[in-house]
Amino acid sequence: MIGGFQKFTLIDYPEKLACIVFTQGCNFRCHYCYNPDLVLPDRFKNTLREEEVLSFLEKRVGLLEGVVITGGEPTINVGLKDFIKKVKDLSFLVKLDTNGSMPQVLEELIKEGLVDYIAMDIKAPPEKYADVVGAHVNLKDIDRSVRLIMSSGVDYEFRTTVIKDQLSVQDIVSIAKWIRSAKRYYLQKFLPGKTLDPTFAYKNTYSDEELRSILSLIKDNFFECAIR
Ligand code: SF4
Repeated sequence: MIGGFQKFTLIDYPEKLACIVFTQGCNFRCHYCYNPDLVLPDRFKNTLREEEVLSFLEKRVGLLEGVVITGGEPTINVGLKDFIKKVKDLSFLVKLDTNGSMPQVLEELIKEGLVDYIAMDIKAPPEKYADVVGAHVNLKDIDRSVRLIMSSGVDYEFRTTVIKDQLSVQDIVSIAKWIRSAKRYYLQKFLPGKTLDPTFAYKNTYSDEELRSILSLIKDNFFECAIR
């Protein structure tokens, strides 16, 4: 189910001109989620028809390079693979954003050459995962997605939204050890605003200086590591 569409972005697909498709629904309830309208079913607005998006894409062949599919959580949508096939038939590159909870879906998409870039959130070190995502989580699935992506040959990144009240410096170091030797890992600064849990609008953020100091502790684990 498509809940939103952005016709152009320069920043969401590395080095590509792209558009963004937002899918509805998510199996997590991260307190800091910026997209509650795509996560909570009672807030879903009008859904877009797939044909509307595909018809826009047909007119952008040769002008846009990629399509970012994000959410919500795209991999819980049963129609995802068929939709991506149609997008790929138009010769667009596909970047998939995921929370990594559905490794079986990722595996199928990777095997069939349907994704060109994967961005997976690493929400927390294993012992804090359920707290941070506000839902039941199968950690074996999360770890399976991490290993699958790292060995896939598909371009990828991992990223963590860091909130001072939620993840300590040691927690971030633990995550870095967990996904050590990944190609890219980004720390995403939390920007208070509209969040799924409204109390998170007031949570503490790390300062730029603190984030730089954390980065210096973990960056040698990765080929590329930066703050966003
Ligand atoms: S931030 Fe969490 S709740 Fe929001 S879409 Fe991503 S995984 Fe789902």
